[in-house]
Amino acid sequence: MNTYDVCVIGAGPGGYVAAIRCAQLGLKTVLVERYASLGGTCLNVGCIPSKALLDSSEHFYNAQHHFQEHGIDIKPPKVNIKQMIERKRGVIKTTVEGINYLMKKNKIDVLHGHARFESAHHICIEQNQTSQTIESKYTIIASGSKPASLPGITIDKKRIITSTEALELQEVPKHMIIIGGGVIGLELGSVYARLGSKISVVEYMDRLIPAMDAALGKELQRVLKKNLGFEFYMKHKVTGAVTTGKSVSVSIETPKGDSLQLEGDYCLVAVGRKPYTDGLDIAKAGITTDERGRIITDAHLKTQAQNIYAIGDVVKGAMLAHKAEEEGVFVAEQIAGQKPHINYLLIPGVVYTWPEVAGVGLTEEELKTQQRPYKSGSFPFKASGRARASMDTDGFVKVLCDAQTDEILGVHMIGPRAADMIAEAVVAMEYRASAEDIARISHAHPTFTESMKEACLDATSKRALHI
Ligand code: FAD
Ligand code: NAD
Repeated sequence: MNTYDVCVIGAGPGGYVAAIRCAQLGLKTVLVERYASLGGTCLNVGCIPSKALLDSSEHFYNAQHHFQEHGIDIKPPKVNIKQMIERKRGVIKTTVEGINYLMKKNKIDVLHGHARFESAHHICIEQNQTSQTIESKYTIIASGSKPASLPGITIDKKRIITSTEALELQEVPKHMIIIGGGVIGLELGSVYARLGSKISVVEYMDRLIPAMDAALGKELQRVLKKNLGFEFYMKHKVTGAVTTGKSVSVSIETPKGDSLQLEGDYCLVAVGRKPYTDGLDIAKAGITTDERGRIITDAHLKTQAQNIYAIGDVVKGAMLAHKAEEEGVFVAEQIAGQKPHINYLLIPGVVYTWPEVAGVGLTEEELKTQQRPYKSGSFPFKASGRARASMDTDGFVKVLCDAQTDEILGVHMIGPRAADMIAEAVVAMEYRASAEDIARISHAHPTFTESMKEACLDATSKRALHI
């Protein structure tokens, strides 16, 4: 029987990063993955493919809507969706090859097959009717998540689909009905709206991306309606969906309790994801899950078994690739006897629509609930020279800081390249900078980042220079 210091179950961003860090720390490590391709949800059916399609569709949209104004005359562009999907597959292939290389470089054994616990120290790996059992001193469970559905809806993967199928469509839908105005719904809705689909979003809360600062969802809703023609059914509840031939009929309850029927050719169910522990036999290792199916862990991400940790989407917290990665490093370093730390408040959230949306720290709603005195400052992109040059004037940066000390408590932005710009806010908050500190730092001109400086000037003492 092969023995290891660490067995990592699941090769998503949580698992493969944990394996690399374990190997760097001198631990004999094995990574077990049930699929042939490493990289998990993120690389195969999540972050990377969705961003590849977002980039392709954005090029098409710009060619159609903005080139002429820039003084570029072209024949009306046409969508070749098959090529778009093919390019996306190529991006995945290259990225997965990169992970294979990293495993070899770090001398990590990779076993393909479904892992299940026989005991807290023994894991059986099964593939194609063959199985082998390995012994491991420590185990890190990084088995990730799967799309959730709703009662009354059967996902047929053809017309009623999840994000996985939406990343592989061979035609541009005429009318895609999206259940859920969260991250997946708005990102994939943007892809198909740019390619010409009519998009209807049904959301049962009163705002989009409800976990983020409320001002962001409000502005995003306005912009997606104005630029891409999204139709929103807010505070509406989906009660069922059925497929007939090539069409889908979605039954909805309006806020007044009336019924409404939407007809489309595709229905994307994007109502969240659920932790995945199927067939893992965690009970044999003495581990249990909570009421939402998440593996129970303590503050050190240790499960109820002393030698087993769990990380990423399968445990509590935001379902984000970079959160899973941080946890992978955190757990590996603990196993090696170090004392690492994660500040969960400073894990940024990003939505890759255009304009992009990003936030870190406390939202204005959370500050109000905590009754914490705060100051707020903001700067609109329409006042940014860089944004005018690129015709990206929708959105703003909002900075929230402590009323007395000026320490930055939250930064929330919607605008061009917000996904990259949020990094400055994370650094500032990690070093507990005040709004005045950032306001006094030189930001290159003309850049989108000047808007962060201006919002800090506004927050610290209402002295923004360009509004
Ligand atoms: P996963 O990536 O889900 O990996 C788990 C792995 O474990 C899988 O490969 C699975 O096959 C394997 N596994 C499970 N059980 C077993 C078993 N018993 N034996 C062997 N192997 C097993 N996050 C971001 O931060 N940014 C984004 O832009 C972003 N975009 C997304 C877009 C979409 C469409 C989706 C669906 C998700 C997106 N996410 C994004 C979320 C991100 O993909 C997840 O948070 C991340 O992949 C979680 O990593 P993980 O390692 O915990 O799990
Ligand atoms: P989500 O939690 O972001 O959004 C789900 C939305 O569906 C919510 O707004 C919720 O109110 C709504 N909803 C739930 N039940 C409903 C119902 N019955 N009728 C109408 N609306 C309903 O989930 P998601 O968009 O499916 O994404 C899943 C996970 O993947 C998220 O946790 C997210 O963090 C991750 N993800 C991240 C990114 C990114 O970081 N850019 C991109 C895609 C996915």
